[in-house]
Amino acid sequence: MTYASAISETYGDVLHECVSCGSENIKFWRQKNFHYTENASQKEFHIYRCESCGTGFLNQPPHVQWLQSIYEYSGQALTQAITLEDVLDREAKFPNCKVDAERMSHQADRFNISGYGQALDIGSGFGFYTQALRRLGYRTVSINPGKYENEVFRNLNGDEPLAVMFENYEPSGQFGVVMMSQVLEHLLEPNQAINKVSGLLAPGGVLACAVPNYNSFLVKLLGTKDNACLWVPEHVNYFTGKGLRALVEGNGFRVVKVEQITRIPFNAASKRLRLKGRPAAVIDGLVKFLQIPFARLMHYFGLGIYINLYAVKKL
Ligand SMILES: [Zn+2]
Repeated sequence: MTYASAISETYGDVLHECVSCGSENIKFWRQKNFHYTENASQKEFHIYRCESCGTGFLNQPPHVQWLQSIYEYSGQALTQAITLEDVLDREAKFPNCKVDAERMSHQADRFNISGYGQALDIGSGFGFYTQALRRLGYRTVSINPGKYENEVFRNLNGDEPLAVMFENYEPSGQFGVVMMSQVLEHLLEPNQAINKVSGLLAPGGVLACAVPNYNSFLVKLLGTKDNACLWVPEHVNYFTGKGLRALVEGNGFRVVKVEQITRIPFNAASKRLRLKGRPAAVIDGLVKFLQIPFARLMHYFGLGIYINLYAVKKL
């Protein structure tokens, strides 16, 4: 089979058990269609849900070669190259990746009792996590298949990540920290991936991961119209706090911290209301400050947009 014909395959194998906890008690939840922008054809995806831990996943999932053909360029829906200046400008207007990278790296470092100073940044994106880990004194290995992100990474950090999928990564040495920010929802076999991570970490080392929350208020409100969590075909798994915990605990980890993160772009409301000038500035200011109590309320009910989880490899 040639590569060209291989990527014409749409679906992978049918799943019979939950990708997080392994339960066979899984049920069809909803259908979500994927539309090609350039033509009228569409692909149909079925989302299944685990009755035990609440995790959702595409069943059948997209074919691995289709996903790889997307990730070769970008893991975050970039359809063309982007400059470091554009990325930094975006971060200056709406601090996002940089804030997450600094918070998660600090937390991971705080929990790392392995004595190992090497960190692995899986799905390193624009490079903010690697940058933050280096500032904390870690030697880093970064892996990311996407050409567009890797170009930005190189301009930010001066070197280049290994352009491989984690499944194909052949490790060098042991690690004290493994960072997986916005990665697990993309992986077809998250249990195998976490098992591999467990093997890479020294005892007492830390896995830090961030995933969209399947229980978020966005999914509750928008249903399958949500694209933060339910973004097909790239996101194949939709985690709950319970499911993510089951996934790591089943692979030799002890969970030490779970928190939710909710951040709404300041211009989300003014853009929707098509405001400009001063009215837009007033609404943007309101969103900026009201989202603090709003996020607190959502987190209280487990409805935040993202889940951050830190787990220590058992000694
Ligand atoms: Zn489950």
